[in-house]
Amino acid sequence: METRFTLPQSEIPRQWYNALPDLPTPMAPPLDPESKEPLRPEQLEPIFPRALIEQELSPERFIDIPEEVRDVYSLWRPTPLVRAKRLEEAIGSKSRIYFKDESVSPTGSHKPNTAVAQAYFNKQAGVRRMATETGAGQWGTALSFSCRMLDMQCSVYMVRISFEQKPYRQILIRSYGGEIYPSPSEYTKTGRAMLQEDPDCKGSLGLAISEAVEDAVNHEDTKYTLGSVLNHVLLHQTVTGLETKKQLEMIGEKPDHLIGCVGGGSNCGGFVIPFLPERLQGENINFIAAEPKACPTLTRGSYLYDFGDMNKLTPLMKMYSLGHSFMPPPIHSGGLRYHGDAPLLCNLAKEGLVEPRAYFQNECFDAAKLFQNTEGYLPAPETTHAIRSAIETAQRAEPGSCIVFLYSGHGLLDLSSYDSYFKGELTDYELPQEEIDKALSFCPNW
Ligand SMILES: *Cc1c(COP(=O)(O)O)cnc(C)c1O
Repeated sequence: METRFTLPQSEIPRQWYNALPDLPTPMAPPLDPESKEPLRPEQLEPIFPRALIEQELSPERFIDIPEEVRDVYSLWRPTPLVRAKRLEEAIGSKSRIYFKDESVSPTGSHKPNTAVAQAYFNKQAGVRRMATETGAGQWGTALSFSCRMLDMQCSVYMVRISFEQKPYRQILIRSYGGEIYPSPSEYTKTGRAMLQEDPDCKGSLGLAISEAVEDAVNHEDTKYTLGSVLNHVLLHQTVTGLETKKQLEMIGEKPDHLIGCVGGGSNCGGFVIPFLPERLQGENINFIAAEPKACPTLTRGSYLYDFGDMNKLTPLMKMYSLGHSFMPPPIHSGGLRYHGDAPLLCNLAKEGLVEPRAYFQNECFDAAKLFQNTEGYLPAPETTHAIRSAIETAQRAEPGSCIVFLYSGHGLLDLSSYDSYFKGELTDYELPQEEIDKALSFCPNW
C-alpha cells in the first residue's frame, strides 16, 4: 500500500490563495494605536515594503508567486503527504490519518515558506538587510536561511533566555551568515536602557520586537519582518494547503478534518484556508486549531482590539487575545506562547468556521512519543499539539473519515524539552479565570 505521496517540482503552486475576498464577514481594519482611526497603508512603509503592505490588504483571490521564490521553494517543495498507517494501527483507528510534512525544509519547519517570500519582496524594494526577533529560534533560522539564498543580510534579536538555553539554534542562525544579538542588546536604545536598569535581564519577545523595529526604523537599508500573525504571512503559507489539496485529489481522498497547531496562526491558517471555498459551498470539512491550555487564546481569550506586542508599539488588531500583558507559563512549545492569534484565523473562528481545541503539554508529548514509536519521526513541541488533536479526532470520528494534519516541524533541536518530559518534569498548567480576566483588563477599552 502506498503511504507517501509526492508531487513533481512543476506542481509547486504558481499562486498563493488570498482568502480576504471570500470571507463571509470582512476583516475589521487594523487601527492606529494613538488616533484609534483605521490605519492608512502608508503608515506601515517605514517598516514593511509596499508589495507586502499591498498583499496584506489585497482584494485579489490569487497572487502570483515570483519565479525566484519558486526557485528557492524547489529546494524542498512540494513536501510529501504521508499516510500515518502505523499510527492508525497503534490506536485502532477506523479513520485514515495523513500528515503534510513541512519538517523537510532546510531549517526544519514551515517558516521558510514565508521567510523566502518576505526576503524576496524586500530585496525587490531595494532593502539589503532584514531585522527580526526570535523566541525559540525557528523564525530567526528561517529568515537567516532565506537571506543567504537571496544574498541579503540578516540581524536577529533573540530573547536572551533562549539564546542561553538553545545554543544550537544560535549556531544554525550564524552558519547561514545571520548576525545574532541576545535581547536586550547593546545595539539599540531600548536594549541599552533595559540593560542599565537590569544587567541580568533575560528578555522577552515584546522587548526583542521593540529592538528589531528600532533597528529597522534607524537604518535606511533595513526593514523589519514578522514570522506569523499578519495576513501576508498566512497568504505565503497557503502553499501547504494548496499542495495538500492536489495530493488528496490525486489519491481520490476528500478531507473531513484538517488540523494545525496554533501559535500565531500561520501554519494552521495556511493549511486550512485553501479549503475555505469548498467549505463555504457546503462541503463538510472541519477546520481544527490546536493550542496549549497554558496559552488558550482561541478557547478562552476575548475577541477584541488589542496590541500585537507587550510594549504597545504595533497597530491595534481585532483578534482573540489573552491581553498584550499576558505572560504565559514557561511551557516547552515556545512557538505557541503568543497572547493573540492571526486576525484572519480569528475572523474564521468567530464565524464558527474554525474549531479551537486546547491540550495540556504532557498529553501532547505522550502523543509525540506514540508518533515517534510508530512513524519514527520526532516532532517539534509545537507540532505535538496537532498530533494529539489528530489522535483524539480519529478516536471520535465517523468510521472511514479522512483526517489530515500539518506536521509543522521536527524536534531534533528541541531534545532538552523531551529530556524534561522523559524525566517527568513537565507541568500541566490550567490557567485560573482571574489571571485571564486580569490580563484582559489592560486591553484598550472600546
Ligand atoms: C513557529 C512554529 C509554530 C507556531 O507558529 P504559527 O505561526 O502558529 O504557525 C508551530 N510549529 C513550529 C514547528 C514552529 O516553528
